[in-house]
Amino acid sequence: MIPVQGMRGLKVAVLGLGRSGLSAARALEAGGAEVVCWDDNQAARAVAEAEGFACAELTKQDAFDDIARLIVSPGIPHLYPAPNTVIAAALEAGVPVDNDIGLFFQSFATREWNTFETAPRVIAVTGSNGKSTTSALIHHILEHAGRNSQLAGNIGRGVLDIEPAPNGGVVVLELSSYQTDLARNLTPDVAVFTNLSPDHLDRHAGMGGYFAAKRRLFAEGGPDRAVIGVDEQEGAFLAGQLSEGAVDDRVIRVSVDRKLAGRGWNVFARKGFLSEYRNGKQAASIDLRDVAGLPGEHNHQNACSAYAACRAIGIAPKVIEAAFHSFGGLPHRSQTIGEKDGVRFVNDSKATNVDSAAKALAAFKSIRWICGGLEKEGGLDGLSDASATVKKAYVIGREAAGFAMQLSVEAEVCTTMEVAVARAIEEAEAGDVVLLAPAAASFDQYDSFEKRGDAFAALVKAHLEA
Ligand code: ADP
Repeated sequence: MIPVQGMRGLKVAVLGLGRSGLSAARALEAGGAEVVCWDDNQAARAVAEAEGFACAELTKQDAFDDIARLIVSPGIPHLYPAPNTVIAAALEAGVPVDNDIGLFFQSFATREWNTFETAPRVIAVTGSNGKSTTSALIHHILEHAGRNSQLAGNIGRGVLDIEPAPNGGVVVLELSSYQTDLARNLTPDVAVFTNLSPDHLDRHAGMGGYFAAKRRLFAEGGPDRAVIGVDEQEGAFLAGQLSEGAVDDRVIRVSVDRKLAGRGWNVFARKGFLSEYRNGKQAASIDLRDVAGLPGEHNHQNACSAYAACRAIGIAPKVIEAAFHSFGGLPHRSQTIGEKDGVRFVNDSKATNVDSAAKALAAFKSIRWICGGLEKEGGLDGLSDASATVKKAYVIGREAAGFAMQLSVEAEVCTTMEVAVARAIEEAEAGDVVLLAPAAASFDQYDSFEKRGDAFAALVKAHLEA
């Protein structure tokens, strides 16, 4: 645990008692603060009370009179579509609103660091897609390089639950826009911006607010190095704005769209090769085509971002290359379950929207595509390129027939995962890829995308072992 510094003897309110709220309460208490908690949900309050935390309704008049700070969970809206009433009351009373990420940055450095040869560092990753994969890959590379690394934030452990960093240790944080929007301290040493596409627009009142939330990681902290995907205009703008001049190597630009061979520090992937260029000269090259854990252009973008972040803290290209080959990928994201009779089975259950499914479909050829589920807003137009790589679709979900009718490829209505996997196996030929990339949420048939992916994997494993 990271005990919270700078709050000793002060009263701090914690709103939302899920994983991050409870861990903030514990870390605050360990740092000598007096904690008062609230959650609208009675069961969540009971858990906190069982641990000995006091709960008090924070909407009462004068509730914030003696409170020094309000800590809120990422799921609770602080501005759009409308601020939660407790947060509104704190803001009205002039009480600073913060979250566990802000507390972490204010508490990370300790006196002990005076005895360290190499100060611990934080690498923070944000962006619309690929955050988890990129963060996990950076963590994997660091471990492979023999560095002490801890993975936390949106992935892995709660950020205040990790151990204080040892000499030379690195903390890799995955941060969502909700987290970066609110944290009062955001001072990573290396900050990564993977890419930007529309998401969570209701919580940020549109694209501008969404970009502004992510941008705080760069504007507020002033990281030593900024790794920025420049294939969208927002990333290109951010990189330009952070640069002091053409040769400023504080910014490492990343692209999977074009060769970046200008001045400055660049990493890009084209035709399956990653290249690092510094001041117009090639510094390293890695063949990504046979890296099994990172298939497709979207994963090549993740590879470039992770590569750049690790180069920024001095890891050698050859070490990174070797680590790429031992990266197994994350469950439910382009995860190869196995192969039989020349047919490969891939689980991308995390492709819950059209954009991520389109990326998965572009990553493979000869696809027998299992898709469908609870359709998201915006229709399926983004999947019109499917015919380039898909041989046939096997549609699941309660509304499978309606979903199938909107596809541009031959589609069979299977409704259940059992039928879809069985039919895909029956029809697959050597060289085919049976890919689960639903382009829809799972909630019509499963509790989560993980459960859906597990169901697919279990059926595939039974086939592989038969
Ligand atoms: P996040 O943590 O940002 O949601 P993940 O790594 O969990 O990202 O990937 C989420 C989904 O997006 C998966 O379906 C994955 O295949 C796809 N994806 C991963 N990386 C990228 C990327 N760089 N660009 C677009 N889509 C991606």
